[in-house]
Amino acid sequence: MKKRRNTATQTAVLASLQEAESALSHEMIQEKITAKADRTTIYRILNRFCDDGLVHRIVADDGKQYFAICSECEANDHRHDHFHFRCLNCDKVECLDQEVSVNLPTGYRTTNFNGVVSGYCRACNA
Ligand SMILES: [Zn+2]
Ligand SMILES: [Zn+2]
Ligand SMILES: [Zn+2]
Repeated sequence: MKKRRNTATQTAVLASLQEAESALSHEMIQEKITAKADRTTIYRILNRFCDDGLVHRIVADDGKQYFAICSECEANDHRHDHFHFRCLNCDKVECLDQEVSVNLPTGYRTTNFNGVVSGYCRACNA
C-alpha cells in the first residue's frame, strides 16, 4: 500500500466503520465522526479505502451506497463471497457471514459477489 497522508478525518472515518455493527451510509458516517469534514472529503476518503481494499461498497436495493470493513481484501483486489442484508424495518444493512456459491457456466470464474437481500432482521422479525 502506498504511503498516504494520515489525516484526522481519515482515521475517524475508518474508526467509525470498524466500530459499527452494520454497514454505514455516507450520511451515517458524517454523523458519527466529530471531525469537521465536508461531503466531498468523506467521499474521497471512502473511495480511497475501497481502492486500498480496506472497505467495500454496497449498493443496496434502496439505491443507496453503504460501506463496510473488509477482512481479507488487498489493494485493488476485493474478494467477497457474502450476501448483504437490508432490513426493511430498521434500515440496517449488514454483511452476512454465510458463504455464497454461485453457479456459473463452465469457464467462468467468480472473484467478487455483491448481492443484496432485503427483508426483516432477527430483531425486527422477533
Ligand atoms: Zn473487500
Ligand atoms: Zn431490522
Ligand atoms: Zn459486506
